[in-house]
This record gives sequence, structure tokens and C-alpha cells, in this order.
Amino acid sequence: MMQKLQLYNSLSNSSEDFVPIDASNVRIYACGPTVYASPHVGNARPLIVFDVLFRVLKELYPQVTYVRNVTDVDDKINARARERGISIGELTSEVIEEFHKNTSLLGILPVTHEPRATFHIAEMSDIIGKLLSNGFAYESHGHVLFRVRKMPNYGMLSKRNVDDMIAGSRVEVAPYKEDPMDFVLWKPSEEGMPAWDSPFGKGRPGWHIECSAMSHKYLGSRFDIHAGGQDLMFPHHENELAQNFGAFGCVMAKYWVHNGMLLVNGQKMSKSLNNIISLDDILRRHDGEVVRYAMLSSHYQKTLDWTDRLVSQSKQSLDRLYSAMKLCDDETNVESNDVVLKSLCGNLNTPFALRVLHEISDRIFKSSDKHEINRLCSQLKGGAAMLGLLRKKTDDWFRQNSDLISEEEIEQLILERKTAKLEKNFQLADEIRKKLEEKNIRIEDTPNGTTWRSIT
Ligand SMILES: [Zn+2]
Repeated sequence: MMQKLQLYNSLSNSSEDFVPIDASNVRIYACGPTVYASPHVGNARPLIVFDVLFRVLKELYPQVTYVRNVTDVDDKINARARERGISIGELTSEVIEEFHKNTSLLGILPVTHEPRATFHIAEMSDIIGKLLSNGFAYESHGHVLFRVRKMPNYGMLSKRNVDDMIAGSRVEVAPYKEDPMDFVLWKPSEEGMPAWDSPFGKGRPGWHIECSAMSHKYLGSRFDIHAGGQDLMFPHHENELAQNFGAFGCVMAKYWVHNGMLLVNGQKMSKSLNNIISLDDILRRHDGEVVRYAMLSSHYQKTLDWTDRLVSQSKQSLDRLYSAMKLCDDETNVESNDVVLKSLCGNLNTPFALRVLHEISDRIFKSSDKHEINRLCSQLKGGAAMLGLLRKKTDDWFRQNSDLISEEEIEQLILERKTAKLEKNFQLADEIRKKLEEKNIRIEDTPNGTTWRSIT
């Protein structure tokens, strides 16, 4: 029987059965990167979460069209290019290339369309024209602005009320605005910065109109899922929704899916705290699957706390799953992914899906029946594929990762061994010592505790 997908819809603030607008072609849009610098580790979360959603949808429906844009026109891009003394084109090409390298290391499936904002200026200009003629926008001092008061139920997605926003808020007051809430659709470019001709004068689009134009071009005026990080819900998604409503008369997406934020050691990443971890750096030190596992170990709606401990635990968990895979034939057919698919269909419950994979592995370790092992191996491979995990050959995994043990992992294993000894579980203590030896780490017990050194 076909599984039913349930998703939490931010628009209704509730979990809903997913019923596609057109089951023969499910359509999803996710806001992609602004390509001004290499992304931080938090940017990987929506990529991974919505990749799992894409895999689930592909499993359930014959065709899925997934659009993830690239924002390549932005003040931050201009500033960074100037800072580095290179052209904007050079900067964006460099960052896009790096982005693709990272998505491939993370096992992200290629999307159906990856439109770039600068290639869709004409489409943006069309929508702005429609908004002007529908009375949802006005021109003022070289700017075109969206008339927020004209939008019925503005704030319906982020559950905000316009007057409350103005009362308490940081909305930008500008002399050219009719109302402080109005936001930019088109604005003049600064001297020497990218500018395009348009019926409203030479200039450049605002950020929100980019996604409106690209989603409309590739997915139509109403599609199934609009996805992105929670931080994009307001103002970005709220404004996209208002723009498309003003131009096309409907709410652009049926389901709005938002992933929670990522903290580092319990704190928000920020320049002032100097705790920004670049994705590049993480992927140099850890396998992409470890990052992927770590991201999927929490439910996508929850805040995820990124710590060294999380990374090393994820690595150990993957080692265990790959150890079970070692007992499987390379040729195992994948017949079933039902158990994992079922948990993912419950609003993408990835932590539960991972637990299911570990239960299957435990049964592989315990079983001595060849047929049963084959059946379990098929479930393990099928389930892992739904999560984009266990993509490597087991030998490659253990070879590539053998040298990559971190100091935290070593300390953690030493601690686990100490506990095992206290509990008189000498077999486990010995296994941990051997495991470390396999990774070329020698431990020595001294009266002052256990020390370790590398023996390569
Ligand atoms: Zn967007």
C-alpha cells in the first residue's frame, strides 16, 4: 500500500496529509544560497533536510520537479567582490563551483532546475509590471515598492500583524515609502554596480522578487511545497507570498515547510562571537556522510546544536552501520525500504529512521541465518538510501576514515573504556583498546590516568 506523507505546514501551523495539486508532477521550491562567500555549516541543514524530502517524494510520486535557486545579485556580493578586488562574475562563479563541490560531498541529489537570479531579470520585471497595474505596487524616486496595506492578511504565514510590526519594529522608514512596511521590488543601483534596464528605470531587483519570478517560471503560479530555513519565513517568504498573490491572485504554495536553526555549542553563530564554522572546513576534516548523519540526527523542525561530540558520535554511528554492511553481500538487492520510508512519511522523522537502521544492524550482527541476513541487508541498504547514507563501499569507508579519528573521539573512547573497566566489562575495554590500535592510536594506563599517542 502506498505510504501517506504527513508534513507540518507553517501556513496552517499544523501537521497535514500531503495531497499534491497534480500527483503526476509534484512541485517543490527551496530558497537556495546567496553566493557571496563559502557557506557556514548551518547552510547545509536545509540542503540536507529538503534532499531527504525530495527522495521521499520521488519514492511516492512518478515525477518530482525540484527547483532550488541561486541568488547571484545582492549587496553582500557587491561588497565582497570589491573587498577582494575581483569582478562580481568571478566571485559568484567561484562560490557556485564550491557550492556544487560541497553538495556532492554531502550526497545531495541534483535538483531539477537551479535558476540564477541574474538570468531572470525579465521575468521579475514582468511580475513587477503586473503588481503595478494591479495596484499592489507604486513607483517612487526610482524605486518600485510593494504596497503592503493592499495585501489582505499580510502576515498570514509568519502570523504577524502589520500594526504590531510597525509599533515594535525595525522596519525601515524611508522618505520614498507610502508606509514604513512597504518593501522594495526594484531599486536604483549604486555607481559601478550591476544594473539592468527596465520599464521602471535602470537598476536591480529586490531579493524577494527573485524567488517569486523563478518559482513562477519553473513551477507555475501555484505549486505544492515552498521550503526554506525558519529564518526566511519573515520577511522573505511572507513577501514572496504577497508578491505572487498580488500578481497572480493565489497563494503560491500549498505547504510551507521550514527547518529549525543551527547553533554551535549552544550559541548562535556570529562574527562577534567568532564561532562561525565554514562548511568547507568541516568537509575537509570530516566525511560528508558524517555531516549528513549529524544533521539528520535531530528532527528538522528542532534547533540543532552542532558540537564536536555530535560529530564524533555521528561518525561512530556510521562506523557501526558500515560494520553491519560488511556482513552483507555487495550484490544484495534492495527490495524494501518500507520501515524507514514509514518513519520519514511521519513529517520526516529522521531520528526515528536512523534508530530503525541501527535496529536492523543489530539484528544483522546477531543473526546466523543467511536468508535472514540477506533480507535485513536489503532493508538496511534500502532504508539508508532514503536518507542518502551508506553510499560508499564498506572497504572504502573504513580506509578513508581510518586516519580521520579526532582528538575528541580518542578522548571519548578512552572515557568509555574507563567506564567499561569500572563496570568490570573487561571485554568491552579491550575492544576499545583494539579499536584505537586499528586507528594507530596506542593508549597507556599510568597511575595518573590514561594517555595516548599516535604510532604511525
Ligand atoms: Zn527565496
